[in-house]
Amino acid sequence: MPLPTADTFGRTRGLLGELKLHTVCESAKCPNHWECWSKGTATFMIAGDRCTRACGFCAVATAKPLPLEADEPLRVAEATRRMQLKHVVITAVARDDIADGGAEHFRRTIEAVRELNPGIVIEVLVPDFNDSDAAIESVLAASPNIFNHNLETVRRLTPTVRHRATYDRSLNVLKKVKDRRGQSLFTKSGMMLGLGETEAEVLAGMEDLRRVGCDILTLGQYLPPSQKHLPLVEYISPKQFVDYARAAQAMGFAHVSSGPLVRSSYHADEFTSPPVPVV
Ligand code: SF4
Repeated sequence: MPLPTADTFGRTRGLLGELKLHTVCESAKCPNHWECWSKGTATFMIAGDRCTRACGFCAVATAKPLPLEADEPLRVAEATRRMQLKHVVITAVARDDIADGGAEHFRRTIEAVRELNPGIVIEVLVPDFNDSDAAIESVLAASPNIFNHNLETVRRLTPTVRHRATYDRSLNVLKKVKDRRGQSLFTKSGMMLGLGETEAEVLAGMEDLRRVGCDILTLGQYLPPSQKHLPLVEYISPKQFVDYARAAQAMGFAHVSSGPLVRSSYHADEFTSPPVPVV
């Protein structure tokens, strides 16, 4: 990974602007925005920048979404090529207004990115698609290398943190993907900490993820994007993050990222061992 520079930040911003692409880096007010863009990486957010859900932790705008843009997959592929990414992370807003939740748009984007960037590792961070078999299968048909769906928080806090989602539905999505694709892809999930969860609840969440075969875990500090969002209950100590990482490794996760600034896509390309199966 190159060293961050202001020039690279400007180039990343210019390219994303020119290709009219949205990123979760900006939309979610990610604290790593400067670092990642200054190193020439970003996480693309497809299907618009208006989400149909209103999760209490998330800075992405909730509004009536605009129609999907048919050429967006090609623009993501072109940005990936120009940024010379070896590992791309693609996420999307939740599109409950579309029958398939935007799954087909994901499939087209993965295929366009792979066609223009052969050998690239493609990681998708998807909404729950309301646990639709057809939608999940549609994404899997394009053979992403890493399938990420976040649990976001522990079971008890899920109704508060993600009132339109359920804890078990998210686990089920991850289970279905693992059951269908086995070791041909990696599944990944993450939780934000500092929302009032207990250590026992975090460990139980990690156990639940392992039970559905989840391979990769991310744990990061929740930071409220504004005073209108869920309040911060606690800063998790660096030692606690290390303790959680050790516990996760002991549970059998293939890769764990745990630290205050860790986000789903933070340093995502560092997951190389075991090698990601590339299509
Ligand atoms: S951690 Fe992910 S979302 Fe945040 S700036 Fe980096 S690439 Fe973007």
